[in-house]
Amino acid sequence: MERTLCIIKPDGLQNDHAGEIINRIEREDFRIIGMKKSRLSRHAAEHFYAVHKERVFFNDLVNYMTSGPVILIALERENAVSHWRTVIGATDPAEADAGTIRKLHGVNKEKNTVHGSDSPENGMIEISVFFSEQELIEQR
Ligand code: ADP
Ligand code: MG
Repeated sequence: MERTLCIIKPDGLQNDHAGEIINRIEREDFRIIGMKKSRLSRHAAEHFYAVHKERVFFNDLVNYMTSGPVILIALERENAVSHWRTVIGATDPAEADAGTIRKLHGVNKEKNTVHGSDSPENGMIEISVFFSEQELIEQR
C-alpha cells in the first residue's frame, strides 16, 4: 500500500467543493487514514513548497495557501501517488484532462483546488509533516 497527501486548498473550501472531493476519494477506492482541517502558517506553507522558493510565483503561492483554511487528507491505495495525480489532473486546470478535479473546479494555475504528492517518498514525508503516528488510522 502506498500513501499520498491530498490538500483541499483554500479555493476548494471557499467554493464548497470539499464534500464532492471527499466523495471522489471514496469512489476512487482510496482509504482515508487521516483527515483534519487546518490553517497553514506562513512558515508551514513556505516549508511545504520550499522546492519552489526560487520561482517567481512562490510568494503569491504562499499568500494563497495561507489565505484560508485547508483540509489535509492522508490517503492510502495501491499506486496512491500516480492514481491521485491522475484524478486531480495537470497543474494548470486549462491543461487538465476532462473529469479531473482541477479541470472541474480549478480557478487558475495557482488556485488549482487540490494538492497531490509527486512521489511515494514525498507522500510519506508530507504526511509525516502534518500527521502524528497516532492520527493515522488504518481502515482495516
Ligand atoms: P503540482 O501541484 O501539480 O505538483 P507544482 O509542484 O509544480 O505543481 O507546483 C505547486 C503549486 O504551485 C501548484 O499546485 C500551484 O498551486 C502553484 N503553481 C505552480 N506553477 C505555478 C505558476 N506558473 N503560477 C502560479 N502558481 C503556480
Ligand atoms: Mg508538486
